Amino acid sequence: MLVDSYDRVVDYLRVSVTERCNFRCTYCMPEKPFSWVPKENLLNFDELFEFMKVAIDEGIRKIRITGGEPLLREDLDVFIKMIYDYEPSIDLAMTSNAFLLKGTAQRLKDAGLKRINVSIDTLKPEIAQEIAGKDVLKNVLEGVEEALKVGLKVKVNMVPMKTLNADEIIDILEYCKARNMSVRFIEYMENKYAKEGISGLKSTELLTILGEKYEFSDDGFDGSSPSHYYTMKDGYRFGIIEPYADDFCKQCNRIRLTAEGNLIPCLYFDESMSIAEAVKRGDIKGAAAVLKEVVRTKPEKNRWGGEDGESSSRAFYETGG
Ligand code: SAM
Ligand code: SF4
Repeated sequence: MLVDSYDRVVDYLRVSVTERCNFRCTYCMPEKPFSWVPKENLLNFDELFEFMKVAIDEGIRKIRITGGEPLLREDLDVFIKMIYDYEPSIDLAMTSNAFLLKGTAQRLKDAGLKRINVSIDTLKPEIAQEIAGKDVLKNVLEGVEEALKVGLKVKVNMVPMKTLNADEIIDILEYCKARNMSVRFIEYMENKYAKEGISGLKSTELLTILGEKYEFSDDGFDGSSPSHYYTMKDGYRFGIIEPYADDFCKQCNRIRLTAEGNLIPCLYFDESMSIAEAVKRGDIKGAAAVLKEVVRTKPEKNRWGGEDGESSSRAFYETGG
């Protein structure tokens, strides 16, 4: 079992398989980065799988594939199947913009993927174009329908922003509710890669908008999920992710791996340790030692809203959000 210095059991690994993306989301990657990590620096799936085995053997129970856009990485289903075959009980999930999901959902499901979180910030094609930098909505919505059809459990992430999609909070909730998908509203997180001038809605503002239409109870946090949950009268549950809240990190159970093999203890800290060399050498003990050290040094909480304000130089598309 992996336990950090604050007695939190760390059993959740988020794996970014690529920093590349086919969207240019205004809050994440509005411009194509000056350079991508060269392909030869990425860990291949055999190398990544070597580390997945180490992580599972040490106590990781949930693995989420993310990016950049994970579906840009060829043969992702083969990698998912490797993990599934090694330990079928792993909670295997993915976060995706869904653009390429229509043609891949069945293969992913067959490979052993259980759940998918999809980012839907709007149901209006022109706003989708404005947020993602291209005409994406049709493909995204078709991808979601396909994922549901093949039996994947789907959750939706929405980042509500004042001048872009704040008027769609109810519409998106209703869209999700009609499909039995849970929705989580993520407060916009400041970062130096985002387009200037974005103003995200805070949870209090979201709750005011939702409260005008629905009655709901406050369920608080559920286990180690970063979401604050609310249940509506008809039983539908939605979540709000508030990274600026004081208690946001209290139950944190996750660490992150970048596509290059850097293991990161917290989304908003620059510190990381590489597992790449150990994995390439086939040094299982070395990789396990790095994993334990990263867990040991996991900070108590992120630095959002702290005295020094923004403090990570790493982009969300690199760490996987
Ligand atoms: N490309 C995939 C996607 O968009 O779902 C996976 C990677 S993306 C970095 C993971 C999540 O991070 C998405 O739900 C996205 O909305 C969220 N995200 C990215 N930048 C953000 C920001 N500045 N504030 C809040 N959420 C952000
Ligand atoms: Fe790409 Fe996801 Fe970032 Fe949008 S949020 S630019 S889809 S990585």
